[in-house]
Parts: sequence; C-alpha cells; structure tokens
Amino acid sequence: MQLLKDAILERGSVKNGDVLKVDAFLNHQMDIPLINEMGKAFQEYFKNQHITKILTIESSGIGIACIAAQYFNVPVVFAKKSESRNLDGAVYTSRVTSFTRQRNYDVMVSKKFLAADDRVLIIDDFLARGSALLGLIDIIRQSGATIVGAGICIEKAYDDGGSKVRGLGIKVHSLAKIEYMDENRIVFAD
Ligand code: 5GP
Repeated sequence: MQLLKDAILERGSVKNGDVLKVDAFLNHQMDIPLINEMGKAFQEYFKNQHITKILTIESSGIGIACIAAQYFNVPVVFAKKSESRNLDGAVYTSRVTSFTRQRNYDVMVSKKFLAADDRVLIIDDFLARGSALLGLIDIIRQSGATIVGAGICIEKAYDDGGSKVRGLGIKVHSLAKIEYMDENRIVFAD
C-alpha cells in the first residue's frame, strides 16, 4: 500500500538496527486518515469472507483493528496481556514472546467473546518473528473458531514470522513488506 510505504519512509525511523519506530503515525500518535485507508484495504482484501469478529492484541493492534472493524461491521476482541495464568477455565491463554521487550508473557481472551461458530480475522500492526500472531492463532484454535486470515500493517519479510504462519495454511495479507532496513535505508519487498 503506497500511502503506508510513504509514511514509513517519510515519518518512520529505524532504531537499534531492527526496530522500526512508527510512533508518529501508527502506535503512539495515530494518523487517522492513513489508518482509515489501511482499514479499508483490509476490508477490500477480506470481503465476502463472512467475518464475524476481529481479534488483535493489546495495545498497539487495537487502533487499526477498531478502524478496520467499522468496515466489516463486527466487534473487536483484543487479547489482554496478563502476568499470571488464569486457572479458572474461563479464558483461553497462550504464551507470547515480546519482540520489542524481549520477554515472555501470557495473553488471554475470555471464553465469552470467541465461540466455535465465529469466523475470525486477526489484525496486528507488525509481523516479525510471528510470536504474537501464533499466540492469537493458538487462542482461536482453542475456541474452535475458524481463522479466516491475518491482516498485518507492516511485515518484516526478512524475518521468519510470515513463512511460519503461511506454512500453517493461514492467509496473511500485509500492507507493507520490508525486505531490508537499517538506520539509513528501508527497502520494500514489492
Ligand atoms: P513478532 O511477535 O511477530 O515477533 O512481533 C510482532 C509484535 O512485536 C507486534 O505486535 C509489534 O507490537 C511488535 N514489533 C515487532 N517488530 C516491531 C518493530 O520493528 N517496531 C515496532 N514498533 N513494533 C514491533
């Protein structure tokens, strides 16, 4: 998506070699007209798939998921990060390794909000090594719902997350794919 690529080039920056900062338009300050176009692009790609729910992970996926959800006209559920596993059986949980913070945490979704007859689209801001996405996939599988696919704003195509998830037969649609980046240069895959 050209608008997003332009925003990355003009307003993004690379820190520590491997962290793309997009907090000028996506995950701190939010550029709503741009995010709105991203939401429409996900709807255009996944329309006619009878999606009943959008699932994302807190906190940086929530904004884009909510805007996309207006086009699908479905609720958003976000997986919550929790320090300890809830053992009362009322939640689905999965363990995720944070890319940016380099630590493990559990994410959970209440069983009230995902059911076997749901058709779920996952939306997230980044796909890198795939841990966040695989955690959400695990949660959907526990619920028995159908995974329609994943809409990702920015995929680091040089990392292995995309091939891990596509290797499971899950459709991943990324609006910008980064083939290479360092502090001076960002190269897109297509
Ligand atoms: P993964 O689990 O695929 O390794 O990483 C995805 C998660 O880590 C995303 O939910 C995102 O919040 C965060 N993330 C991964 N890479 C980056 C990055 O380069 N910049 C930012 N801002 N977040 C990232």
